[in-house]
Amino acid sequence: MMGKTIDLQIRRQDTPYSPPYWQTFSIPYREGHNIVSALMVIREHPLTQEGQLVDPVVWEFNCMEEVCGACSMVINGKPRQACSTLIDSLEQPIKLEPLGKFPVVRDLMIDRSKIFSDLKRVRAWIEIDGAWDIHRGAPRISPETWKESYLYSRCMSCGCCMEACPQYGMEKAFVGPAALAAVRLMNNHPTGSYHQQQRLHAIMGDGGLSDCGNTQNCVRVCPKQIPLTTAIGELGRQTTLQLLRDLFGKS
Ligand code: SF4
Repeated sequence: MMGKTIDLQIRRQDTPYSPPYWQTFSIPYREGHNIVSALMVIREHPLTQEGQLVDPVVWEFNCMEEVCGACSMVINGKPRQACSTLIDSLEQPIKLEPLGKFPVVRDLMIDRSKIFSDLKRVRAWIEIDGAWDIHRGAPRISPETWKESYLYSRCMSCGCCMEACPQYGMEKAFVGPAALAAVRLMNNHPTGSYHQQQRLHAIMGDGGLSDCGNTQNCVRVCPKQIPLTTAIGELGRQTTLQLLRDLFGKS
């Protein structure tokens, strides 16, 4: 191929059970390409550097603005979002791999179901029972609390923190940093706090807070700069208080 190119080495896998293999593609350089747009060019004409026409590369994306979390992959060894990773910021050849902590569906597409089952496990939602009029009876949230909670609400379940966490894996019980931060977020909400006890009990057992090894990798890779280690520290205090309440019979 003549002229400046963008070279991508992609780890491919045809089925969840077949062995992975690598293929390299070169596309013409264009300013402003991100990983998703480069993969789109390859998809139009999936020709390897060796001139072999192959099946288009499979990956997931949706919002293209780092909100949905679907396009997470390992880019040059770092878990991040394909949509917001600009080609010009990367060394070439660019190496793309699926997140390694989750089952591969095909190529760069992974099955993130464990993230969502862990969020369910810690009751990461707020129940609105309709018992009060939202505009008159609901508890008010101070601007300070709102501002603090907003930091945590930006989690997009992208999986990058789980990928970086040595304690997290399909065979491990640990719910992971994002689910812990979600507990902190929900417990901090006046309505969510009604179920604080259940959430704390969910993370006081096997696979909960004590499985965190404090490597702090999670907070370094989070694309949303969510203060995950702060959340984990706060939950340490909340679970200690809950333990004392349990011991002395107070709810
Ligand atoms: Fe992704 Fe950050 Fe949420 Fe982890 S905490 S899932 S890295 S947005």
